[in-house]
Amino acid sequence: MKPIRVLIAKPGLDGHDRGALIIAQALRDHGMEVIYTGLRQSAVQIARAAIQEDVDVVGLSSLSGAHKSLFPKVVEALADQGASDIPVIGGGVIPAEDIPYLEEKGVQKIFTSGSPTDAIAIYIKQLIDQETIESPNKIAHIGIAVESIDAVLPFYQHTLGLELAAVEEVQSEQVRVAFLRIGETMFELLEPLSDESSIQTFLTKKGEGIHHIALEVEGIEKRLKQYKEQGIRLINEEPKPGAHNSQIAFIHPKASNGVLFELCEHGKED
Ligand code: ZN
Repeated sequence: MKPIRVLIAKPGLDGHDRGALIIAQALRDHGMEVIYTGLRQSAVQIARAAIQEDVDVVGLSSLSGAHKSLFPKVVEALADQGASDIPVIGGGVIPAEDIPYLEEKGVQKIFTSGSPTDAIAIYIKQLIDQETIESPNKIAHIGIAVESIDAVLPFYQHTLGLELAAVEEVQSEQVRVAFLRIGETMFELLEPLSDESSIQTFLTKKGEGIHHIALEVEGIEKRLKQYKEQGIRLINEEPKPGAHNSQIAFIHPKASNGVLFELCEHGKED
């Protein structure tokens, strides 16, 4: 297979390229061919180099704070030279506040300074293979740990005025669950059926309250595989059956700074 070719460029005037060189080396370690333009390149020079070198992706690095004008200029210069099919990604010292603007201007993805270099390499591979991770469709439900469903139901049904959609027991998890519909999504009340239940462990440690957020996704198996490749810690490496004809898996809360996320894929209705 032909190796992925990447152009690493530093637009603008800042004179530090240590970060860019580290990224270039990390991408080479992942088997990519990396061309580095050197410092202080104009947007037009970068676009020209990308076309001449026939690269698959352009990676821009900026530490100067000028990324908001420089990155979109490179996207424009590529388009002007008929190469808008070459994706542009960016990194460096970039505040999170600027990411939506840059993505709106056509930068495919921004990696902030906390991003591991491996994550950048994996993203590029997925981008070229058209296997990037898609946004989840919606919040499938918010899981709430309770001592007793019967005791809290009046609050949800009568105080909030929500409709009770279903109550079921999941023996494998030793929980009783109640689903309450709220617009497009649900609350999932979770009551332990025994001390073996992880919900009981949660209640003992933290008391009643929000337990997890479930995200509705498509292609749960592929997503778990991608997470494994990226070294994202998972509680379930394979999907398991959940309520309502669904496949579910939990991401380890250590991977998400303390929030327990469940991935959830509902099968087609019979
Ligand atoms: Zn759940």
